[in-house]
Amino acid sequence: MVLGGFAGTILRINLKNKKIIKEPLKEDQARKYLGGPGLATKILFDELKPGVDPLGPENKLILTAGVMAGTLCEGGGSWQAVTKSPLTGLWAAARSGGFFGPEMKYAGYDMIILEGRAEKPCYLWVCNDLVEIRDAGDAWGKPVPEAEAIIKEDLGEYQARLAIVGPAGEKLVRFAAIMNDLCRAAGRCGVGAVMGSKNVKAVAVRGTKDIKVNDPETCRKALIEIEKAVRNNPLYALYAYEGTPAYTGSLNAFGALPTWHDRSGYFDRWENVSVEKLRRNYLVKARACQACSYGCERYSEIKSGPYRSPPMGGPEYETIDLMGPYLRIDNLEAITRASYLCNIYGMDTISTGYMIAFAVECFEKGLITLKETEGMRLSWGDPEVLVDLTEKIATRQGIGDLLAEGVVRVAEKLGKNAMDLALHVKGLEQPGHSPRAIKEMALQYGTCNRGACHIRYHWVGNPSMFKATSGMEAYGLPDPSNISPLDESKEKAKIVVVCQNCGNVHEALGTCLFHTSSPNGETGLTIKRFAILLSALTGWEINDQELVKAGERLFNLERAFNIREGVRRKDDIIAKRWRTEKLLNGPTEGAVVENYERMLDWYYELRGWDSEGVPRKSKLLELELDEVATHLENSGISLKE
Ligand code: SF4
Repeated sequence: MVLGGFAGTILRINLKNKKIIKEPLKEDQARKYLGGPGLATKILFDELKPGVDPLGPENKLILTAGVMAGTLCEGGGSWQAVTKSPLTGLWAAARSGGFFGPEMKYAGYDMIILEGRAEKPCYLWVCNDLVEIRDAGDAWGKPVPEAEAIIKEDLGEYQARLAIVGPAGEKLVRFAAIMNDLCRAAGRCGVGAVMGSKNVKAVAVRGTKDIKVNDPETCRKALIEIEKAVRNNPLYALYAYEGTPAYTGSLNAFGALPTWHDRSGYFDRWENVSVEKLRRNYLVKARACQACSYGCERYSEIKSGPYRSPPMGGPEYETIDLMGPYLRIDNLEAITRASYLCNIYGMDTISTGYMIAFAVECFEKGLITLKETEGMRLSWGDPEVLVDLTEKIATRQGIGDLLAEGVVRVAEKLGKNAMDLALHVKGLEQPGHSPRAIKEMALQYGTCNRGACHIRYHWVGNPSMFKATSGMEAYGLPDPSNISPLDESKEKAKIVVVCQNCGNVHEALGTCLFHTSSPNGETGLTIKRFAILLSALTGWEINDQELVKAGERLFNLERAFNIREGVRRKDDIIAKRWRTEKLLNGPTEGAVVENYERMLDWYYELRGWDSEGVPRKSKLLELELDEVATHLENSGISLKE
C-alpha cells in the first residue's frame, strides 16, 4: 500500500555550509501531526532552543504544503511558512494560496527547511531532484515583480513558482511577508524578515512528479462530492462574485468594522470603500488559486492620477479596512495604491495599516512630533499619509525605520502611555474585526498562538454573527441561533475552543479557510469530508473525531512552544482600549469587553489548562504529547496534574 497524498520527502538546506539533505517523511509522524504545518511545528519545537533570536542564523524557516496541496481538493493551493516570529518572538505560521505549494509537492517535497544564514544573497532552485543554491545577483534589492522576472530569466524556466521576499524582507521589516504568484502573501508575523535574515531572496520550485493516491476511485468520488458541496455553499456567490471586499459592508452593518484606530465599529462613509465601488471603477479581473471554484482574488488597477497602480491582486477586505476606515480614509484609489506598494515591497497590509494608525494617534497625543516625522503632519483621513508612510516603512526611511519595528517595540521606545494605545496581542497588531462587537473575537485574539489574529484556525465570528456552523456541531459547537455576538457567556469560550481545534485541521491538511465556512454541515469542505478524502489518499482509516483530536493536539503543541518561550496568562490579556473604552457610534455603540478574565477562566478550564494557561500534564498525555510534557518538565516548567 502506498502512502498517498504526501510527496514523501523533507528537504533540508543548510545555507551556511551548503549541505543539502533529503529525509524520508515518517508515516507515523505524518499521521500524528497531519503532515505539513503541523509536522513543521513539531520539528520547530524539537530543533529550536528557546530564546533564539528569530532573525539570527539559529532560527529555522520551514516552507510546507499540507497533504491536500496539489491533489485537486478544493482550496488545496495553500502552503505555509512556519518559524519563530521576529514580531512576537513566538511560534508563527503564515498561510498563502496560489500555486507554490502544489508545485513544491510536484517537485517531490512536503517541506523545505532553511537553516543557518547564507554568506551572501542567494536564491534556491528546486527542480525535481535538482537542488541548487544560486547567487541572487541583481534580484537582491528589487521589488517582487522585477526580482521574479530576473530569477526566471536566470533559470530560463518561466513556469517556475517562487516564494520570494521584496525589499521589506531584505531590510528586516518585522512584518515583512513572503510573496508568491506575485500577489499572494504569507503575510503575518514577519516570516519575510526571517527569509531576508537568511540572505535568501527566493525559493524557486518546478516539479513534474505525480502525487500517489491509495484509492483513486474513492478519491475521485470524494473530490466530486466536495466540489459539489462547495458550489452549493450559499457563500459561493459572495466569494466568486465579490471576494473578501464584500465584508466591508456586512461588518459595518453589524458595527464590527474597526474604524478610527478601533474607537468605533462603524464608518459613515463606508460606501466610498465598498465592494460595489471597487467593482464599478477599478476591478480588472478575478483570479483563483489552484483547484478553487471560488476564485475570490480581485485584480484592481488605478489607471491615472496620483495613486496610479498597475493591475495587481487586491485590495482584500483586511487591507481595505486597515488602510481605509481604520485611518478614517475613504479614498479607494489611495488604498489600492498602498496595497500595491505592499505587494511589490513584500509587506503585510494589516500590520502596515495598523502601524500608520498607531503613529497618527501617537502624533495626535504628542508622543510622536514633527521632529520624528521630519515635518510631516500625521492626521486622520489623509491618503497622502497612508501612501507616504507605506513606502517609508518598506524602505525603512525616516520615521518608517521606527514603525517597521512593530507596535510593541515602538510603544516601548516612545514610553509614557504609548503602550495603552497599542492594540495588539503578543505583539501582533489588530486585524479588521472588532473584538468589542464580536466578543468571541476578543477571546480568539487573546488565545491565538500567533497573537491577535482573526483567521488562524477558523473565523470564530461566523457562528454568532452569521449563524454559520460549518458542521462543527458534531464537535461541541453550541447552537448559535440564540447567541448574540455581544454575549460574554461560557458559550463563547466553547465556540473559540471548537473553532480553534477544527480550524487547525484544515490549516494542517493544507486548504483555504474559505472552503470550510458554511452555514451548516451540508455544504462546504467539512471535517467529515476531509476524513473521507484523507483516508482515500493515504490508505489510513481515519475518521473525523480523530482529525479534530489531532487539531487539538496541534493547538497544544503550538502553545507548548510558546510556554517554553515564557508565555503565560499575562500574555493572553487583550489591549486596554478593548476592555475599558466603549465603542463610539453605530449599531454597537457603547460595547466594551467587560468580562474578559472570566471568559479566559472558562476557556482555560475547557482547554484543560491551569489558571496560568499552562496545559496540564493529563491533557498533554491525553493528546499523546508525552515527550512534549517531559521536555517542558525537564526545562523547569512545572505541569499541574
Ligand atoms: S477562496 Fe480565494 S484565497 Fe481561497 S483558494 Fe480560492 S481564490 Fe484562493
